[in-house]
Amino acid sequence: MISVRDGQTRILAQVSERTAPELLPLADARGRVLWESLRASFDVPPTDNSAVDGYAVSSADIPAAGTRDLTIVGDLPAGGVFAGALRPGQAIRIMTGAPMPAGADTVYPQENVERTGDRLRVPPMAKGLNVRLRGEDVQSGRVVIEAGSVLRPQEVGLIASLGHGQILVSQRPRVALLSTGDEVAEPGTPRKPGQIYDANRSTLRGLAEQCGAVVTDLGIVPDRREALRARLEQAAAIAHVVVSSGGVSVGAYDLVKEVLTEVGGIDFWQVAMQPGRPLAVGRIGAAHFFGLPGNPVASMLAFLLFARPALYALAGRRRVLPELWSARALEPMRKKQGRREFKRGILTFEAGGWRVRTTGPQGSGILSSMVAGNCLIVLEEERGDVAVGDEVLVEPLGCDA
Ligand code: AMP
Ligand code: MG
Repeated sequence: MISVRDGQTRILAQVSERTAPELLPLADARGRVLWESLRASFDVPPTDNSAVDGYAVSSADIPAAGTRDLTIVGDLPAGGVFAGALRPGQAIRIMTGAPMPAGADTVYPQENVERTGDRLRVPPMAKGLNVRLRGEDVQSGRVVIEAGSVLRPQEVGLIASLGHGQILVSQRPRVALLSTGDEVAEPGTPRKPGQIYDANRSTLRGLAEQCGAVVTDLGIVPDRREALRARLEQAAAIAHVVVSSGGVSVGAYDLVKEVLTEVGGIDFWQVAMQPGRPLAVGRIGAAHFFGLPGNPVASMLAFLLFARPALYALAGRRRVLPELWSARALEPMRKKQGRREFKRGILTFEAGGWRVRTTGPQGSGILSSMVAGNCLIVLEEERGDVAVGDEVLVEPLGCDA
């Protein structure tokens, strides 16, 4: 029996490679992982520019008291450039974003001045106001996005502001997905007596895609050694990561471990956690293999704990484990010491703090508990029963579909 953390460490030690790079148009880059750190090759903004619509002046012309009259000598729209330099007593009409003319260092908002023809009457004001400075967003030569960052809309925007039309990212890891079990039926087809519909291929596909993987669906494999072996070998030939569910406990038809020792190798299969204890992790050829439990909640959890970090590492992500939050328990919870337990929870912000309660019955086959929940409650190994008001760790479940 090993701990969750040890299991994760062993998996991450196995995943030393990352997928190859690919060059993508910026429009396709969101959600992908940056291949190499990005440095700015120029300042953004590239010049000092006006933050408002108004009049650019030299601070030497700002009156200390009363007003001063200046002569308007030009008009600068956004994108316009003033060829000359401002001389004493002069002002220039300037639009937001237009580069500051030489000689000007301050901008009067248009609502603070009086204009008559080309005469401008200005009041006192602080020097240097309403100017956005060259490089205040990004300085030339600085790393602006580190390798291994996930490109959210704002990262994509920053890359665009540096003028890049395409960007080098990691290829998506390929996942081959299969379910095992004679009792498992394909949704959309008639179900025979004694059969249940396959929930796991749908949840696991979604989780894998949320991790940025491309999924190949290899369907449902009956509990027969030859069929399983053939499907696993087929899976390993086309994917970086093979994920199966079911067939990893100790029943007479739980063949995954046996077949895995024939076609590859098992790394471990007993983790001190609940739910999801029986688990087969290993390799088939060059592919990483995750034999997840059959129960739907357990298979989701085992995926999140073990397959997700592997997929993140393969894609070159810097962060591979989730951030945990803390919340106060709204109800007592049973907890067995010596193993890490995960309950489905509902996290709310109440009375000035984060609170959490369970979704109700916590059986590892109760997939609706995952639907009702918005977080996992993470109860660490050394911890015993939880009382109302105790602090517990929670992992919010993403709301991205
Ligand atoms: P197993 O480890 O194969 O004995 O499966 C454990 C439990 O999970 C059994 O009740 C199975 O029927 C159920 N199960 C296995 N695979 C799936 C699946 N793909 N979808 C829903 N339930 C499953
Ligand atoms: Mg089975």
